[in-house]
Amino acid sequence: MKLTLIQPSVGKIANKPYIKSWTMEPLALATLAGLTPKEFEVELIDERIDELPEIYNADIVGITIETYTAKRAYAIAKEIRNQGIKVIMGGIHTNLMPDEVIKHCDCMLVGGAEGGIWTQILEDFKNNKLQKKYDSNSYFTKELEHVTPRRDLYANKGYLPLGLVESGRGCPFTCEFCAITSAHKGKYRYKLVDKIIEDIENIPQKMLYFADDNFVSKFSRTKELCDAMAPLNKKWFSHGTINMANQRDLLKKLQKSGCSNLLIGFESLNEQTLKSMGKSWAVVKRGYTESIKILRDYGISIYGTFVFGYDEDRPEDVEKTLDFAIEQKLCLAAFNHLVPYPGTPLYSRFEKEGRLIDKEWWLKDGYNFGEVSFRPKNFTPQELSQKCYDARMKFYNFSNILKRVEFSANCRDPFRDPFQALSFVSANFVSQKGIKQRQNWPIGNIIDKYGKILN
Ligand code: SF4
Repeated sequence: MKLTLIQPSVGKIANKPYIKSWTMEPLALATLAGLTPKEFEVELIDERIDELPEIYNADIVGITIETYTAKRAYAIAKEIRNQGIKVIMGGIHTNLMPDEVIKHCDCMLVGGAEGGIWTQILEDFKNNKLQKKYDSNSYFTKELEHVTPRRDLYANKGYLPLGLVESGRGCPFTCEFCAITSAHKGKYRYKLVDKIIEDIENIPQKMLYFADDNFVSKFSRTKELCDAMAPLNKKWFSHGTINMANQRDLLKKLQKSGCSNLLIGFESLNEQTLKSMGKSWAVVKRGYTESIKILRDYGISIYGTFVFGYDEDRPEDVEKTLDFAIEQKLCLAAFNHLVPYPGTPLYSRFEKEGRLIDKEWWLKDGYNFGEVSFRPKNFTPQELSQKCYDARMKFYNFSNILKRVEFSANCRDPFRDPFQALSFVSANFVSQKGIKQRQNWPIGNIIDKYGKILN
């Protein structure tokens, strides 16, 4: 029997390469393949890289689905089902929008595939008893089963040279706009440290990316993992939260374990905005500047992300934040407009307040990256989008890249160990290249070079 797993793109421009920085290994699908019984031959098709076949040679197809890939996933599924092949959908969007997803597939998995549910689905398929919906959320356990991902399926795809690992899933915080915490209902699950180490030992890449939603969700466990990683001599990066600056013991262990960079969602410099987001816990006593300095003292360079469009935000706040990010010499930064992801408290609030321009923006023909789908209070939607784009362009211009060079974290010890400096330079130039390419990139459609929708 043959199972084909598909990673949809967010959309494509015909005959143009996909955006390089969006081509990380699809760990969720490799994990699903790892859970699949040996009697199934498994094929991975990644639409970001591969051409989709006209005729699918499979007994059953699994498609992973996020909000940004939902429309493409539905179009692909329609084609496959027309060929008489059953389609299973899973992924974060099934948790957020189950009533929508179920209309586009033969079987929907809500929640993680671990814990026996995936093998049950395949067994039911074999016995012609496939059900429309399976839900693993009802048997939630704090410990997340470790599965060895089928990394052999990545061969010859040309992914970014990073080994992807997952040590935990979800985040215990409940920021109003966050799709991750809404999908996982504010719960955090983690894997056993010895299993993670076993997994890392099989990864050939020197640089790892922990695809955790929040790597420091549970400080005591993160410390345990860092201790176990220290002898492996890997470099790694992941996602953290600014409150870890209060934990010097943790920072010491992160440094020893090879932590090179952490993405931190600062979101805003305005305390009132943080309160509205439900993120007032991020208002650290000593302030962002002092906290950044502490992280840098432990050799950790920072990828700061900021979001604009809350009611307290004004156009001049975007420039102020840009200046802050440059002054603080952040290694990388993202200046994003707010996105009302379906299934989040933010989406429900905007819906009640009548502020959504298009209620199903992720399914709209012609929707593109950078388009603001709600009415902000102090910007027009176009102004908010433009301000964020301008901030990105300025942050990554050549002179501002130079201004952000410093020798404790971004380019530490460049002569004895050039790795960090090389990462700083390459990550900045890849990001610079991606900004223009990403703006107006089609979400949900394949378009031609004139913008005409082909699919
Ligand atoms: S801290 Fe980050 S991952 Fe956690 S809920 Fe807030 S935005 Fe989401």
